[in-house]
Amino acid sequence: MNMHKPLFIGHGSPMNAIADNRYARFLKAYAKSIRKPEAIVVVSAHWQTKGTYITGNEHPEQIYDFWGFPDELYTVRYAPKGAPEIAREIERAGIGVAVDANRGVDHAGWAVAKHMYPDQDVPLLQISLDVDKDIREHFALGAALSPFSRMGVLFIGSGNIIHNLRVIDFDEDAKPFDWAVRADAWVKERLKNAEIDALLDYVKAMPDYKLSVPTDEHYLPLAYILGMKGPGQDISTIFEEIQNGSVSMRSVEIA
Ligand code: ZN
Repeated sequence: MNMHKPLFIGHGSPMNAIADNRYARFLKAYAKSIRKPEAIVVVSAHWQTKGTYITGNEHPEQIYDFWGFPDELYTVRYAPKGAPEIAREIERAGIGVAVDANRGVDHAGWAVAKHMYPDQDVPLLQISLDVDKDIREHFALGAALSPFSRMGVLFIGSGNIIHNLRVIDFDEDAKPFDWAVRADAWVKERLKNAEIDALLDYVKAMPDYKLSVPTDEHYLPLAYILGMKGPGQDISTIFEEIQNGSVSMRSVEIA
């Protein structure tokens, strides 16, 4: 069975796409440690829609969805093929995901995949976040998608558990804010104990959640991956770091 463990990956600043830092080296090493998937399907913090869509283009465009960064970042070419047949299969599963044949792949997808599969030899697709769903509906859709991870699909929820751009420090190695450290530690503990309800109801208990999760689009991809957790599986942190003072790069694997 070609089962791929679902991942949540913190993607952080677009600058990570061209960095050779601890995080980039983690992604490279992780990809080397697993069997190569048939395709990667990324649930993107950067694609919000009414209804849920999956990219169905044979050659999805690389979207540079960030502004004011160094020119070097806009010259990165990373545009692996899509996999329209997988998109259509997911659409046909009748779980409320429709194919969008035009949309390309934003940096929540390519900036991560670039480090994992630099040869562009793994098809890359994305799923959008339906702005009308609540967090438990996102979680349920994750569960409905999970059978596809047994068909060679590597699911990646791509966002950031703690993500506050208003107070961001452009120094990647800036000292983390105390509230970011506290909130990140809270999430770490809940993940370790697989306290799914607490993680979904983070507004009730996460310390400083208004600073740590001021908007939920970077947190929601985690709900999909939690939804893919089977009984008896663990949620393991595979990378942790706070970049730019306010962005947790905590990444997890369901295994
Ligand atoms: Zn982002």
